[in-house]
Amino acid sequence: MSMHSTSNRQESQDISQEAPADGAFTRMLKRVLLKQATISSVEKLGAQYVRIRLQGDALRDQNWTPGDKIQVSLGRGFENRTYTPVSWDAAQGCAEFIVYLHGGTATCAFFDRVQPGIPLSFMGPRSSLELTRLQQPLLFGDETCLGLAAALVQVQPHAGAAMVFEVDDIVQTSQVLRALGLRDAMVVRRQSGDVHLAQVSEAILRVALPDTGFILAGRAAAIQAIKRHLNDAGVSNRSIKAKAYWAAGKRGLD
Ligand SMILES: Cc1cc2nc3c(=O)[nH]c(=O)nc-3n(C[C@H](O)[C@H](O)[C@H](O)COP(=O)(O)OP(=O)(O)OC[C@H]3O[C@@H](n4cnc5c(N)ncnc54)[C@H](O)[C@@H]3O)c2cc1C
Repeated sequence: MSMHSTSNRQESQDISQEAPADGAFTRMLKRVLLKQATISSVEKLGAQYVRIRLQGDALRDQNWTPGDKIQVSLGRGFENRTYTPVSWDAAQGCAEFIVYLHGGTATCAFFDRVQPGIPLSFMGPRSSLELTRLQQPLLFGDETCLGLAAALVQVQPHAGAAMVFEVDDIVQTSQVLRALGLRDAMVVRRQSGDVHLAQVSEAILRVALPDTGFILAGRAAAIQAIKRHLNDAGVSNRSIKAKAYWAAGKRGLD
């Protein structure tokens, strides 16, 4: 048993392989600033989607609002990556988030092979996208936003949120959306030159109502393009909440 937990601790420090090991001061600061949890379950929802459940006393009595973020420590230094809890049970001390394995990074490799029992440090929950006060929510997102979508349905179960996702793999993402109970979401294949975004904008405007609250998340360039289309169609910025989750060529956006 002790052998097992030792190797788990080792693995958790290997997320960021290129960074030098933490010095004593950094370790002390991290103990103060970061919450410690244990990964209690790992569920592959699809080849590139993994649902992670965190458990620990540090998750108890936390004030989580759907749409909030957590920032997961990569193990060494203060570099972190941001994820969106799908749920947070402050009484039981557990929370879940969904990682999209876009590939090619140490973070993706870590979450692809992670096992229950591995410790994880994080900051948060912290506010990111406020979902609770939207009248008729309409979400545009991508593979990184399935957790956000599931959180939105929890907080607005009767609002009938409309959802559109741009993705690379329609079949895989549609299966995961169905598994999450998000059967009515529209899924559009990402195309080079972003030619699909005009179609997406038209679809969004077709289903929008006068009091629709737009939530734009995911890829920065797509958000900018959709926002421009909405503005051109007369949608005011007051009705739009936007948050870039990643941008091509940028690491650890946020
Ligand atoms: C508020 C917030 C909430 C988020 N919630 C989630 C969530 O719940 N689930 C989730 O999976 N992600 C979420 N993200 C996105 C996630 O933090 C980023 O995708 C992050 O960059 C991944 O880290 P990485 O180390 O794999 O790649 P990085 O080291 O950050 O980036 C390396 C390269 O990979 C590219 N890249 C990063 N993300 C993607 C992607 N999705 N597709 C294609 N290329 C990419 C970058 O452009 C860069 O070129 C969220 C981000 C924010 C800001």
